Amino acid sequence: MAVKQFKAESKKLLDMMIHSIYTNKEIFLRELISNASDALDKLYFRSLTDTSLRINKDDLHILITPDKKGRTLIISDNGIGMTKDELEQNLGTIAKSGSLDFKQNNQNENIDIIGQFGVGFYSAFMVASRVSVISRAVGSEEAFKWESSGADGYTITPAEKEEPGTEIILVIKDNTDDENYDNYLEEYSLAALVKKYSDYVRYPIQMYREKSRMKDKPADAPEDYKPEYETYTELETLNSMVPIWKKTKSEVTDEEYNEFYKNKFYDFTDPARVITSRTEGTATYNALLFIPSHAPYDYYTKEYEKGLSLYASGVLIMEKCGDLLSDYFSFVKGVVDSQDLSLNISREMLQQDNQLKLIKNSLEKKIKNELHAMLMNDREKYEEFWKNFGRQLKFGCYSDYGMHKDVLQDLLLFYSAKEKKLVTLDEYVEKMPEEQKCIYYAAGDDADRLAKLPTAELVLDKGYDLLLCSEDVDEFCLQIMNKYKDKEFKNINSGDLGLESEEEKKAAEEATTENKPLFDAMQAALGDKIKAVKVSTRLKDHPVCLSSDGPVSIEMEKVLRKQPGSEGVKSEKVLELNAKHPVFAVLKAAQQAGDTDKLNKYASILYNQALLIEGMPVDDPVAYAEAVCELMK
Ligand code: ADP
Repeated sequence: MAVKQFKAESKKLLDMMIHSIYTNKEIFLRELISNASDALDKLYFRSLTDTSLRINKDDLHILITPDKKGRTLIISDNGIGMTKDELEQNLGTIAKSGSLDFKQNNQNENIDIIGQFGVGFYSAFMVASRVSVISRAVGSEEAFKWESSGADGYTITPAEKEEPGTEIILVIKDNTDDENYDNYLEEYSLAALVKKYSDYVRYPIQMYREKSRMKDKPADAPEDYKPEYETYTELETLNSMVPIWKKTKSEVTDEEYNEFYKNKFYDFTDPARVITSRTEGTATYNALLFIPSHAPYDYYTKEYEKGLSLYASGVLIMEKCGDLLSDYFSFVKGVVDSQDLSLNISREMLQQDNQLKLIKNSLEKKIKNELHAMLMNDREKYEEFWKNFGRQLKFGCYSDYGMHKDVLQDLLLFYSAKEKKLVTLDEYVEKMPEEQKCIYYAAGDDADRLAKLPTAELVLDKGYDLLLCSEDVDEFCLQIMNKYKDKEFKNINSGDLGLESEEEKKAAEEATTENKPLFDAMQAALGDKIKAVKVSTRLKDHPVCLSSDGPVSIEMEKVLRKQPGSEGVKSEKVLELNAKHPVFAVLKAAQQAGDTDKLNKYASILYNQALLIEGMPVDDPVAYAEAVCELMK
């Protein structure tokens, strides 16, 4: 009999299972039951379109049979079954290579791969020294047996099986000092495991249990008759079969919700929030949603796939239905079950389904309200959530030309320079002094640096707060929102600050006209690096700063530069000078003395300094350093 080798990746995964020191070995049962339940789903599903299949839905079941003496545990189902090829395909190769990739990319051996991904069928090898799978595909007369004792390989041989379906036979390992494998042969512990992990499986999970009962008292029983007992076996259904999302919140414990979430969505930590929703009316559905407490490792990559599990009257019709979630809520996991959807609806039809759109809208409101409630009532938890998914919400605001800002704007947090903590836009606006017109923000990669910007001081000195935006998406998000509660967003380094009085503005304009020859000379020295030179109204103690004119700010230019295709996008920079600063007098003196060479150097040094303050690289660092040294000589 030819022994076949596992595919390399499968072998690795298998090795990990066999030598696993994973403390939660009991999950193997959940994994095998879940496979069996999928097989029953598939059969039922096929019977809807294939009329030659006569299925009585009530016959579909999963049977668990422990045998202490033989040390075997059998899990069988009368589902779709597997052909010889399918046995080979499905059990010889493992589809979850993604989990191994992840493991290899993360050299941290402690990462709990089993807890994170759920490893399916191979988890049987955590508790079994040998695994046999006898299967007969629906519609086939033949049965085959797949068998393996671990990493050495597997065999597939013809077998006998009366009914279609699959039977998994585990030879349970002997007890060790650390692990009591006998548990997996005990009726009561198996029953408890089913209850714990698989209670909501929609097919009966059954087991013949040994019970005892009192014998009937004989008619001729003597005076001192002692009741006699007899044992018998009874087929018991171990699970309640009511899907957890169909139960009301009061019927389910937090722990049960958490367990369900972790099992179903392969997470190893409890969710941050559980959302239940049931509606009748325009859209009838039950939903059970979760907000994860951390972002999946691939969340901000293309590989991440959003979606909710979609059920039609309790039958899974799509594992990940992306159409139920907007991109900005793509982190939400969960289940939606609706009786309004037809069972054999195709993916294409689903996309156009009106019912689905109604459900999506209703869920969206619910998610938004729950997040908002979390923000109001459990700030600490919300900030934790924000750390993980805030970026996604900000992207959501920015995407589609700001179309979703009404949904999202009250969920946003920004760092307040005044309060030194995260605030909502509403909190910012609430604390604005009456005369303050705009919401001020500074954008750059480092909040500490932003707080020290010359213009930042100016705003703060006025008693106004300032949002320090240190993520690349921030300014794009604020710009597209344009206003919040009728207050315009204003970058402190762009255009008019709105802080100056009319007189101050006028004085600055006059000073700019007065010094035209100087500014023309500086402009000539700097060429097209800048659009204009002018007297600033936003400087107090510093001699110089850069501001931008037009829609692209200096910070946005920085962000866009990193993105392929937008290299050409440039901000229009204005060099602003402080006319009250001694440096300004030095500039004027050089210009009046007709010392063009000196003036050119000064112009270049000041321009580069302004770039540095903005956190931009200077154009020619060597020339800049030399020019500064020359000054010091
Ligand atoms: P997953 O279930 O996540 O796909 P598994 O390793 O648990 O991964 O199972 C691999 C495949 O083997 C399944 O996708 C399914 O096609 C098949 N399979 C496993 N158990 C059964 C079963 N009881 N009946 C029919 N097919 C099964």
